[in-house]
Amino acid sequence: MHAILELAKRRTVIFDGAMGTMLMAAGLEAGECPELWNIEKPSLVTGIHRKYYEAGSDVVHTNTFGGNAIKLADKGSSDRMEAINVEAAKLARLACPAGKFVAGDIGPTGKLIKPVGVLAIEDAEEAFFRQAQALIKGGVDLISIETMFSLEEALAALRAVKRLGDIPVVTALTFNRTKKGFFTIMGEGVTQAVAIFEKEGSDVIASNCSLGSRDMIDLTKELRAATRKPLLIQPNAGKPVTQKGVTSYQQTPAEFAQDGKEIKNSGADMIGGCCGTNPEFIRALAEALGNLP
Ligand SMILES: [Zn+2]
Repeated sequence: MHAILELAKRRTVIFDGAMGTMLMAAGLEAGECPELWNIEKPSLVTGIHRKYYEAGSDVVHTNTFGGNAIKLADKGSSDRMEAINVEAAKLARLACPAGKFVAGDIGPTGKLIKPVGVLAIEDAEEAFFRQAQALIKGGVDLISIETMFSLEEALAALRAVKRLGDIPVVTALTFNRTKKGFFTIMGEGVTQAVAIFEKEGSDVIASNCSLGSRDMIDLTKELRAATRKPLLIQPNAGKPVTQKGVTSYQQTPAEFAQDGKEIKNSGADMIGGCCGTNPEFIRALAEALGNLP
């Protein structure tokens, strides 16, 4: 069994918090390509990874959320796709202490799949395949597919990773809470998604983003009722508040950590943070769960 899955059997595995939030705090401007910093500001990226490990993360995500060629094309950087992902993996590897893990981050293409949109599903899968290949070449321990708003796109990424051999893979959808329950923006529900991810061989079933930690407690219960696979849950730091065009998250690390305990008790095997979280949130979570670094 893969080491990370073994660790999850012994105790709660702690992931990292937001990367985008940290990059913006370090001066990333709106519209800039965050993934280019893997090449242009490598020590800064490594420094963020190191802070998460020091705070108690067992796993950090590479800075490659928008690192597929389709998304990079929006910023005119698709020709650097391979270098961006290989370097990103190396930077996280550099910060990674012995016994800890690096997850290669795969986020959405930002395009809608045909017939709703213009992107062919085969082209999406090909872009994910090439990105995952570069991340593996750079030395990641696992692949984490995250913030997927569409089950179909998540599945394209999962199938692409499975074609690359026996590397552990996490697949995370982003759900919204409605009066009828939790659904993706494409209208897909929890049990439908879980059944497909299991059938297609995802080692870990996950959800991240959109929801704050309170809502994630309830979502965790639904996911747990639907599967026996390990679960990774990564909430935002509460609900976003927009003032004068600037979005911020109001939750404190202590509140997040308290909810983290409930997420664990609701059945999560792995917990991290999404938008608005930083190393302080991860430190508070690690302490609340008794996982001191
Ligand atoms: Zn998020």
